[in-house]
Amino acid sequence: MPGAAAMTAERARPVVAIDGPAGAGKSTVSRRVAVRLGYTLVDTGALYRSVALAAKQADASWDDSEAVGRIAADLAERGAIELRPLSDGGVSVWLDARDVSRAIRAQDVGQGASKVSAVPAVRDALLEMQRAAGRDGGVVLEGRDIGSVVFPDAEVKFFLTASVGVRAGRRFDELRGRGEPADREQIEREVKERDERDSSRAAAPLVQPPDAELVDSSELSIEGVVDRMVRRVREVAEAMQRPAGG
Ligand code: C5P
Repeated sequence: MPGAAAMTAERARPVVAIDGPAGAGKSTVSRRVAVRLGYTLVDTGALYRSVALAAKQADASWDDSEAVGRIAADLAERGAIELRPLSDGGVSVWLDARDVSRAIRAQDVGQGASKVSAVPAVRDALLEMQRAAGRDGGVVLEGRDIGSVVFPDAEVKFFLTASVGVRAGRRFDELRGRGEPADREQIEREVKERDERDSSRAAAPLVQPPDAELVDSSELSIEGVVDRMVRRVREVAEAMQRPAGG
């Protein structure tokens, strides 16, 4: 793991990693956990979505690894993707100084994000950005490989999941809620496809790190999940405040 030793930092507050598949409730849960703790939220999926959107705007195919790799490297170098905190604890996403928060949530851009995120050059380009955002702790990072690759030394790691049926149902409700066309069966197929692609890719596949706490949101309410996570983070944060040996 390049740079892993150098990353092990003495932080005053924990880095909280929340990984898991699409539609497990990660966004809502992560935002609420961050608000309750007063931590910064880093939505790493938004970074991959921004690369997919930038590729689309440049008329590059999401399957053209070389082109999307170049686009990601250029965006990273220019600091062209920004996550700006919102008063509700969420973040707005800016690409080349334009608010793309809504545009990156389109269903096709989500599929594009899943494709471009399999390209190693894209992952490399976004890695430092994520590490810089979390380095000092007091931060919740949500994604797929936070606990395994970005912050293997995160003080708290959760793997949030739910059954395919439950996850597809949530996506369906979300799209309908925004007044966008939604086909239940197609969404279920896409959730499965995305899982398959995210889990089987060579570069940073979606895996549950052995030291992550598994949380299944199929049966727990969102509030139940949030309560459990907040309690766990507080325990760890308190232990970090105690003097060593005390
Ligand atoms: O979480 P979200 O649906 O916004 O992520 C969009 C896509 O970005 C996912 O399908 C996943 O393939 C990719 N992703 C990733 N690593 C992350 C976050 C997201 O590969 N840390």
